[in-house]
Amino acid sequence: MMPSSALWDGVRCRRMPTTNQRVLLASRPVGAPTEADFKLVDASVADPGPNEILVENSFLSLDPYMRGRMSAAKSYAKPVEIGEVMIGGTVGRIVAVGRDVSRYAVGDVVVGMGNWQRFAVTPATGWMKVDASRIPMSAYLGPLGMPGVTAWYGLMDIGKPKPGETVVVAAASGAVGSVVGQLAKLKGCRVVGIAGGKDKCAYVVDELGFDACLDHRDPDLAKQFAAAVPDGVDIYFENVGGAILDMVLGRLNPFARIPLCGLVSQYNATSAYAVKNFAALLTNRVTLRGFIVSEHLERWPEALVELGDHVATGRIKYRETVTKGLAAAPAAFIGMLTGANFGKAIVAL
Ligand code: NDP
Repeated sequence: MMPSSALWDGVRCRRMPTTNQRVLLASRPVGAPTEADFKLVDASVADPGPNEILVENSFLSLDPYMRGRMSAAKSYAKPVEIGEVMIGGTVGRIVAVGRDVSRYAVGDVVVGMGNWQRFAVTPATGWMKVDASRIPMSAYLGPLGMPGVTAWYGLMDIGKPKPGETVVVAAASGAVGSVVGQLAKLKGCRVVGIAGGKDKCAYVVDELGFDACLDHRDPDLAKQFAAAVPDGVDIYFENVGGAILDMVLGRLNPFARIPLCGLVSQYNATSAYAVKNFAALLTNRVTLRGFIVSEHLERWPEALVELGDHVATGRIKYRETVTKGLAAAPAAFIGMLTGANFGKAIVAL
């Protein structure tokens, strides 16, 4: 361990932390995760080696994809192994830089994969320096980060919205859905959100400017949905899957587009949901395309410039549910998977 001096064997640092706190994957959940699937441990902080940086994570992002990484099932990314630190995006400050790091300085605010821990020693590549002087740093995990780019990429590149079209998005008050709806409004579309509960729906309409929002827990949902999309659905931005997907499939217009972003209602399921209205894809000549935002890095710069402008000028609003401390992260993550969050779920470290 380094002494807390400013220079040690070529490493530049402000003050060296001595202990780290991390959350490990303790077991693979079957169905909904429980807190016993996670383990909070103390660890030492390694010195950053050549081309490495030491980041003090300020905020950890909680995202639905993490549920997939807890499972050993085949997917687009490799799972977190039992005993490994949970994967996650973070934003924080650099507290030390190793030899040969010229791109960053101590004190820089950076966003990257810092994982579920207070301090991350990682390769300097893969992090992005951000300006936290005008926009709160946590926004780089939400509308100006991975969820925002997901919304932008799926809507613009797959949905291809045109003025006057009807766009439907579920999980509408969440990190991705809230940006999808606001971007679609900026494109001149009619936007219908679907969200869990009256408060979320009121926020989506009154604060975010959607044209309508329906509570997916309302037993009358199907009837309300038919009334809310009198001209049918041109773009369905798919975040949840299950019965909501079937309902929307039944109202698609010819040549509708479905950016298939996520299926959060199914992530804890132990048996697969059987889609009933699959034939609607054929009869309406629908384009349905799944995508993983991290595979489209070439689109991130354009997306971030546009999103940055919208957030800075208030055209895109956002809301966060902030949980305090790493120890509370597992419960917050478990709750997020079933809608306990209201807006972007983050943990303040
Ligand atoms: P959110 O902030 O929207 O949080 C998840 C939300 O899912 C909950 O708040 C809840 O909202 C909703 N939800 C949970 N269970 C159900 C259910 N049974 N029926 C309807 N809604 C449900 O998360 P994100 O914005 O981060 O993610 C949204 C989706 O986007 C997820 O599917 C995620 O996997 C996907 N995603 C995909 C990416 C990609 O590259 N393809 C990248 C990032 C995200 P409510 O209370 O309104 O029901």
